[in-house]
Amino acid sequence: CIISRIVSILARVKPWNTNTLTTTYAHQFLSLDMFDSYKFRVDSDSIRTASSDFGKIHHDIPSAVLYPTSVNDIIQIVNLSYNSSVPFNIAARGHGHSVRGQAMARNGVVVEMGSLSSSYNNYGGRNHPDRRRKLAEEEDYNVVVGWNPRLGYYADVGGGELWIDVLRKTREYGLSPLSWTDYLYLTVGGTLSNGGISGQSFRYGPQISNVLELDVVTGKGQLVTCSKDINSELFYAVLGGLGQFGIITRARIVLDKAPTRVKWLRMLYQDFSSFTRDQEYLISVTKNGPDYVEGSLIMRQSPPNNWRSSFFSESHQSKINSLLSEQGILYCLEVVKYYDDQTAQTVDQEIENLMEGLQYMPDFVFKRDENYVDFLNRVRYGELKLQSKGLWDVPHPWLNLFVPKSGIMDFNAGVFVDILLKQNKSAGPILVYPTTKQKWDDRMSAVTPQEDTFYCVGFLHSGNDEDWKALDDQNNEILEFCEENGIKIKQYLPHYKTEEDWENHFGSKWNTFRERKARFDPKMILSPGQRIFN
Ligand code: FAD
Repeated sequence: CIISRIVSILARVKPWNTNTLTTTYAHQFLSLDMFDSYKFRVDSDSIRTASSDFGKIHHDIPSAVLYPTSVNDIIQIVNLSYNSSVPFNIAARGHGHSVRGQAMARNGVVVEMGSLSSSYNNYGGRNHPDRRRKLAEEEDYNVVVGWNPRLGYYADVGGGELWIDVLRKTREYGLSPLSWTDYLYLTVGGTLSNGGISGQSFRYGPQISNVLELDVVTGKGQLVTCSKDINSELFYAVLGGLGQFGIITRARIVLDKAPTRVKWLRMLYQDFSSFTRDQEYLISVTKNGPDYVEGSLIMRQSPPNNWRSSFFSESHQSKINSLLSEQGILYCLEVVKYYDDQTAQTVDQEIENLMEGLQYMPDFVFKRDENYVDFLNRVRYGELKLQSKGLWDVPHPWLNLFVPKSGIMDFNAGVFVDILLKQNKSAGPILVYPTTKQKWDDRMSAVTPQEDTFYCVGFLHSGNDEDWKALDDQNNEILEFCEENGIKIKQYLPHYKTEEDWENHFGSKWNTFRERKARFDPKMILSPGQRIFN
């Protein structure tokens, strides 16, 4: 059989480096029927893309890149490594929007998951005519909407699909997923490997709480369907599992009726405690509550590379600037309520009810009425603007934290006011909004603080080749501040260098995480770029 042919060829090309797929090794694939040259590539374009990501900080060079046209291709490459006496690393790459090389595989094989997606050619895929033809013939995953009496509406979605495509397709049926990320040009497999959070998470849970079933190619090369009822250990392992246990090739996502429009409000605060009190109040309203609650900082020197859409007219902006010149920092609460034709008559009253008693500055409340898709896709418009100014493809030393409610006031004083304002080094949006642990399933691999309410805080810095290190130093200072002051944060999209740090990160889940690794990826093949076991 073909596998034994490959293994015997590989045996002849010894010696190879430990855990290394040498170029010689890679060329053996090219001569085989199993992976035609359009699927298995070693050209400089493919290697360059696979050794870079949104962070533009870390680069690991793979030996080859696989552009699968079917799930079977993924099964075969994992099998090949698993059955080899010297297994090589394999990383699924979603849209490469990690910031620390998490989707890279030094000397191994990167699997470009988008290659399975119908829209691949629209998003920077290879334009080789053969590839396009093959894709059209072989593509077996897309977005398929279904319904059954037990589950309700759902979408079966390929792991390499972008969320924007999931939205477009499901909207054709008047349906939509419930839980989102702020940015939709991320893949389903990529966000489910982390969590997938946004202003909807307090209400609908993170994206990992909105999954009914998965197809996963484990590190043993087996394609396994899993859910809460079937193969549940794998299901819980993979959700928030940082790509360690298998490659998600299909996810069944919960859908509901899609709203058509949104009422979108931003309100400014000078006082952090009123800001957080109001945020926490809003996420606690169950009857006719908001659908989305976020918040952000507005700093004295608003950076030019902030992709958040501006709500403010020029005259408002100058008033805001004069407030900022006095106190340097303002807090912006953001709240959204969805509506459609049936609720159009009542939505304004509901918003009014929600706003009653909130303590924002009365002259600083801004409202918009927006199309649902445009609201969800808001970061894309900011991205296009930054791209046109050459400010998107730059280093991104991001730091994302979950801060327990008990520490958020100290965090404001020590980090936002003391570190950020004094050092005047912030460069990009800084998000801060509460969510609730109740919507996270602790059996999943994802890690959150112990408290019921915690804040998602994102320092979404953009730098340049000279200054990104200074921003990263500031990130370290923030982490040290939390450590010294006993604020028990957890990193989201975590990045650590030592096993001890990972052990601390997972805390009581560490043993389970390790046991699951031994069970589902015993040869430690998958997602080496996370640097947990490799
Ligand atoms: P990649 O970066 O390609 O991969 C991430 C990890 O998942 C890697 O370890 C990879 O090996 C693994 N992986 C990828 N695909 C699969 C698969 N199919 N099966 C198993 N493992 C896989 N996150 C939020 O939660 N909320 C936000 O609002 C948010 N906004 C963002 C905005 C921007 C502009 C950017 C750049 C990122 C944002 N993120 C946000 C972070 C995002 O969720 C992560 O970058 C995530 O990794 C998804 O990116 P990706 O699909 O490109 O995955």
